[in-house]
Amino acid sequence: MEAANASRSCSSAPGTGDEFDRIWMPFTYYQDTLDCPPVVIERGSGIYLFDKNGRGYIDAIGSWWVSIFGHCHPVINASIKDQLEKIEHVLMAGFISEPALRLSQKLGSILPEKASRIFYSDDGSTAVEVALKIALQYHHLRGQKRTLFVALDGGYHGDTLGAMSVGSIPQYHTIFHDSFKKQIFADSPYCYRCPAGCNPDTCNAECMNSLERILQERNSEIAGCIFEPMVQGAAGMRIYPQKVLTRIFDLCREYNILTIADEVAMGLGRTGKMFACDHAGRVPDIMCLAKGLTGGYLPLSATVVKDFIFNEFNGDFRSGKIFNHGHSFTGNPLAAAAACASIDLITNYNIPASLQNTIERFASKLKEFLNYEIVGDVRSLGMVGAFELVKNKATKEKLPPDSRFAYKLSLKAREFGLLIRPLGDVIYFMPPFTITNDQMDNMLFLTHKALKETINAELSHLQ
Ligand code: PMP
Repeated sequence: MEAANASRSCSSAPGTGDEFDRIWMPFTYYQDTLDCPPVVIERGSGIYLFDKNGRGYIDAIGSWWVSIFGHCHPVINASIKDQLEKIEHVLMAGFISEPALRLSQKLGSILPEKASRIFYSDDGSTAVEVALKIALQYHHLRGQKRTLFVALDGGYHGDTLGAMSVGSIPQYHTIFHDSFKKQIFADSPYCYRCPAGCNPDTCNAECMNSLERILQERNSEIAGCIFEPMVQGAAGMRIYPQKVLTRIFDLCREYNILTIADEVAMGLGRTGKMFACDHAGRVPDIMCLAKGLTGGYLPLSATVVKDFIFNEFNGDFRSGKIFNHGHSFTGNPLAAAAACASIDLITNYNIPASLQNTIERFASKLKEFLNYEIVGDVRSLGMVGAFELVKNKATKEKLPPDSRFAYKLSLKAREFGLLIRPLGDVIYFMPPFTITNDQMDNMLFLTHKALKETINAELSHLQ
């Protein structure tokens, strides 16, 4: 296979020199851009990306979790091309593009019945901003002063200020937390390092005792509880049991708190259910969707609310019941056309039911990573798989941060034609749903190969 064969060092990566002197790369130290310039991608096909020299890379993380049907899928391509001949954009107030309207029906057909009203915005962060604002205004319209949110440690909801206020990952959020409202954080459902000291086999969602305490003390001030259902993604694919999610819903019901499920990363089939909240059989009051909504083609997100919330916003010009929020590109027809095609694919490929064999195979192959001394934990759910690197397996001691082991591993993988991007010390996979068994084997084979080489190269630094 093309991606598996060639091998080259990072310094020979395409696009060195002055080419990058204008660009500011996200989540990247500039020195790393200089030392190891980004690979310039020219085209893509299925799970592969190709650089300008024609070299292939397996996109093991679906280009930041958006590419659920692979790159350049003919059905989505055709839908966008067809739309492009009609209209590129129209505002969404007084007018609406045909695909934006069509999408509301299509999306409605796969949403849980009670999640009925769809508000579009541009990406995951704005879907969350919209959710937070809707929750705040909902209480305001009901004459209640509830202005705080409760969220979970290890949560990530986007990089805009509102979304960051409910995020709790030190390297992303700490320096900003003083600049906005202090939200309240319950413990992270981080099973490998359980904050309640429990064991996954005997767990009774004790980590959420912290949420219960918060709700007991401050429920009347709280506008909503926001969480990533089943998997805290950016924190390092912290997969947690269904009973924890159920407890979050139960506690919110008991204390009369709006539930805001951030399904931006895990919605639309990724966890093996259509929505991650389906694992608990619950429908959140507010749900955020983005990423795979357009098959990863164009930015588009949706904040979906139950009727009882929308009804508070249902009024005439005298009522003040208006949600004054919208973006220039809200309901963009090209993005909506991509999303219509993406939902057709979800339906036609019978996602998530048709993924079940792949999911089982994936989970069992991932366990092989536990054979390494440096791998402390392997976790998977649906089409998400991850392993956590540690210095000491017995004590779970972390790798020294300056070892940059995971980063070096990702560069080695890149040499072998594999795109992975660690989250801290966690290596993870979120491949397109269309990945074949052979492609999955190759993806994991290249990871083993890169891991072994990195261990050999770094061994002396790790001891
Ligand atoms: N919520 C979650 C759970 C996410 O994983 C992300 C992005 N990784 C976001 C929100 C923000 O999405 P975006 O990057 O599209 O703004």
